[in-house]
Order: sequence, then C-alpha cells, then structure tokens
Amino acid sequence: MAAVSDHTQTLLSAVHTHPGLTRAEAGRRLRISSGRVAEVVAGLVDARLLTEGPPLATGGRGRPTRRLSAHPEGPIVLAAVLSHEEWRVDAVELGGVTVAHLAGRHPTGPAQAVLGTVADAVAQLRARLPGRVRALGISAPGLVTDERFVDAPALGWEGVDLWALWPDGDLVVADNDATLSALAEAWRGAATGARLALHLRIDAGLGGALVEGGRLIGGARGVGGEFGHMPLGDPAVRCPCGAHGCWGTAVDGSALARALGDPSPHDPVTFAHRVTARAQAGEADARAAVGAASQALGKGIAGLVNALDPDVVTVGGLGTDLLAIAGEDVDATYRDGLMRVRRETPTPVVPAALGEEGPVVGAAERAWQRLLARLP
Ligand SMILES: [Zn+2]
Repeated sequence: MAAVSDHTQTLLSAVHTHPGLTRAEAGRRLRISSGRVAEVVAGLVDARLLTEGPPLATGGRGRPTRRLSAHPEGPIVLAAVLSHEEWRVDAVELGGVTVAHLAGRHPTGPAQAVLGTVADAVAQLRARLPGRVRALGISAPGLVTDERFVDAPALGWEGVDLWALWPDGDLVVADNDATLSALAEAWRGAATGARLALHLRIDAGLGGALVEGGRLIGGARGVGGEFGHMPLGDPAVRCPCGAHGCWGTAVDGSALARALGDPSPHDPVTFAHRVTARAQAGEADARAAVGAASQALGKGIAGLVNALDPDVVTVGGLGTDLLAIAGEDVDATYRDGLMRVRRETPTPVVPAALGEEGPVVGAAERAWQRLLARLP
C-alpha cells in the first residue's frame, strides 16, 4: 500500500487538475477506501491546503460526498508574463483560479527598468497575500536557458536574469511564452488528452512546443520548439535571430508590414492586430497581406505534421486571427503540403482555447507542478 504522503500528493494533484472534484470521485481515482480518503482529506484541510464544500446529496444510500477545492488561506503561486509591450502578474491558487492580478504596459527599453517594475508587482502581491506565495513562474518572449536567462532579440535583451523578479525566492522557474502556452493548451486547453500535441504561437516571430502526454519535449538544452526559425521564409529577409529566411518572418507582423509596403513595425503585435482588424473590415490590401501570411502558416504546418505526426495542432497568438480571417488560405497550403497518406484524415489545426491567457496559465502551471512536488 502506498504511503499516506503519496496519497496526499496524488489527491492534491487531482484537485489541482479537476477543481471541485468530490471526495467520492477522488477515492475512485486514487483507488482507496472512503475511510482512507476522509483521513487524507482531513490531513490536507488541517494543513490549510484543501477545503471541503457543503455535503452533496449522492442520490444513493451512501454518505453524502463533498467537493474539494483550494483552501482560502492556502498556498499561491505567482505567474509573471513579460511580453514585448506589456507585463502582468497573476496570483493563482490550487486549481488554477486567479485571486489577484496586476498589469501594465512597458516602453521597449533596458531590461533592468522593465524587470524593476515587474519585481515591484511581485513584491506587492506577496505583501497582499502574506506568507502564502510559494513559487513564481515567469513567461518571457525569447529563448530561455537554465529556466532563468532570456535572450529576446526583438527587445534587445541578452542573457537577462529573470530570477531578479524575486531574488530570494526559493522556487522560481522561467520559460519561453510559446512553450508555456503549449503546456497550458495540453493541461487546460484545446490539446487536453492528446498523445502528441504541437502548439504554434505567433507573436513577434513564431514559437511553439511539442508536448507528449502532457510533458514538454524541450530538447537537449531545453531550447527546442523554435519552429519559427526553420528556413521556410524568404531567404532575402534577415530574422532578428541572425539567420536568413526564417518561417516566423513570413507569418508575423513584420510579414504583414512587408506585404503592405510599410516599414518594419516597432511593435509588431499591435501592428498585426491593426492589420487583421482592417482585413476583417474588408480592406483588400490588408486581406491580401493576411492571406499571404496565412498561406505561409499552412505550408509550415504541413511540414511539421509530416515530420512529427501530432494528434492535434493548436495555433495561438496572431495565428488564431489568421485562422479566423483566412482559415481557407491556411487550409489550402496545409492540405497541399501534406503527404498523401495523411490527407484523408488530416491532423486537425485548431485555435488555441486559452487565447492570450496561454502564457500566464502555462507559467502558473509550471510553478504549480514544481510546488506540488514539494507539498505538503
Ligand atoms: Zn530566425
């Protein structure tokens, strides 16, 4: 028989994944008796990790069951998201609910100024939730190594230490925004239950990740998933990463600007939103630019599906807008690029369910997964 501590871990994880789970369902999941569940739950309530709802009628002759959820004074993780133009910090309890939130815009500038602002927000939320904040997950718009250092060419950041957001925190973990969105889709979004899920996210450039059974396939150094830097774009275009012809430069806001004959935008995400709004309003040149980016998107997805054989492809960020406005353009090049054997039942390409929430949900999940391993 497993030790009680194993059951407490499994039960906490189950409530985190399925908040509102009843005590009876938890017992079935853990394959333990109702008496044992009651014992484990009592321990977790005492430890201020879980709370039980009022009794629910079961309809049967058994004892009424109760719903399990986060304790109102229980542990919290912070999820900080740095994007090219904005930042936010969410305080997230067991089960994934945000209980407090701070956000703002930052001018593109020295990393220290942006990190200072976000570090203040982290400190404010810790003060607002005294003694409860146990971990910090950070989403950053660039290549993150050692779960700590980010290179974000579009912001001019190199080797920036993200742990500066909470210098004396003992559980701080950072990762790339597209990678975290991929995990979020696999855990709580459109790829839940997939054996192999491919997530692509267009922001400034294109990133993504491959998630197998809920676990990230991160590469030998944890910096895999840079699908946007496959040379599927125009070889005459140099990418901020230093290479030529990157796929990301054919699908993001910079691609829309080139197609429209505009200068390279300082804020490619805002620029892209403006162009997609114009395309939706029926402006022909904006629609043509969106169509060309969508065709480039479909072509690359076909290559990745041929190579990787995922169950589902989720597309987030600007990619969601491309699917909504020019889904037929994405689909045409996608199907055209698929191997014949894959065409009869092509892998579905679907919008990410979490939308703009992907990075924050992923950052919170990453922090919670680490914290759960340390609780109670
Ligand atoms: Zn590149």
